[in-house]
Amino acid sequence: MIEQRVITFETTDPVVMASGPSSGNTVHTDDFVPGTAIRGALAGRILRRQPPNDEFTRLFEIAVRCEDGHPSVVSRGDDGTITGIERSTPIPSSRRICKYECGTAVDLAAIHLWDEVFPNACSKCGAPLKATTGWEDHEGRPVRTQTELLGKTELVGPGSREYGTARDESLRFDVAISCGQTFTAPLIGEGGDLDRLLEMANFNMGDSIRVGRSKSTQGGLKVIAIESHPIDPLGGDMSGGLVVTLMSRAIIVDPFLRPTTELPNITGLSDRKESDDIDGAGDPIRWMATEMVTGWNAGQALPKPTDRALSRGSVFTFEATDDDDGYLEELSGWFERGIGLRRSEGFGSVRVQALPDILFEGER
Ligand SMILES: [Zn+2]
Repeated sequence: MIEQRVITFETTDPVVMASGPSSGNTVHTDDFVPGTAIRGALAGRILRRQPPNDEFTRLFEIAVRCEDGHPSVVSRGDDGTITGIERSTPIPSSRRICKYECGTAVDLAAIHLWDEVFPNACSKCGAPLKATTGWEDHEGRPVRTQTELLGKTELVGPGSREYGTARDESLRFDVAISCGQTFTAPLIGEGGDLDRLLEMANFNMGDSIRVGRSKSTQGGLKVIAIESHPIDPLGGDMSGGLVVTLMSRAIIVDPFLRPTTELPNITGLSDRKESDDIDGAGDPIRWMATEMVTGWNAGQALPKPTDRALSRGSVFTFEATDDDDGYLEELSGWFERGIGLRRSEGFGSVRVQALPDILFEGER
């Protein structure tokens, strides 16, 4: 049975996680800990004690997905013990908030087709609505990562040209995630495989990991919680339409391995369209963006491949075209195993919701 081991880390050093191209002498961190960095740290712990074998390869390439560490909200009792952990989720690209910040928010994906037009003004104060990004808790409140500016002078030698600079010595600034920030990252796979991987890595509460040794991914993370959870089954009545939101970036390719912005086809599902024409003409109702993803493989001291990815928070809406709900099984597969390439590194994680479940209009 597919399960998850949910690991929560706290930063003990400023952490720089940069997966995009850098500009000038300043490197901006991402505001999350990519699954690929967590996977690399776990693999590194094992490889320091044993050479890679078939079991190692199976666990890391196929059996276990290391999802991204999202900013978390950790609640503690009076004595400091952890009483609750919530992993935030990306704010969906379909979310709009009041430009004058009166507190009104609306999710355009939840607007039913018979509501005629998408609103473009705040229902309370009349201001324009604007898109927003970042992370939120389950009630739609923003969850932010604190960052700080660090400056350093360092030697840049041959073989470390990840910043694309030829200078031998340069002053460099990092915008880093500050100490004391928490991130929650599930490992997903069969229960036995998850336990085996954590055992091989000798990975326990209180352990510290260095996330990479290179300059684009560095910093210390301390494990403050490891929890076991089942995977929630897909729920809700999907017959009125459904929404797929990307919880991480996704690298989708067509059958000829060409990058595409179309999600894989599922029999019995079609795009919801921006038209109530009988033939369903019109544009698909979706909110998406793409970005280039690159990286640095510390083990090989080589750049990782550059891929075009759909951005996290991208939203696609679908409707069922079949009466039988065979599509639910494939959707469950997306949910449990992810979609697209590099899934073991946390890419292609999705959330599937029934349309009525995502109604979001109110204060934030
Ligand atoms: Zn307003």
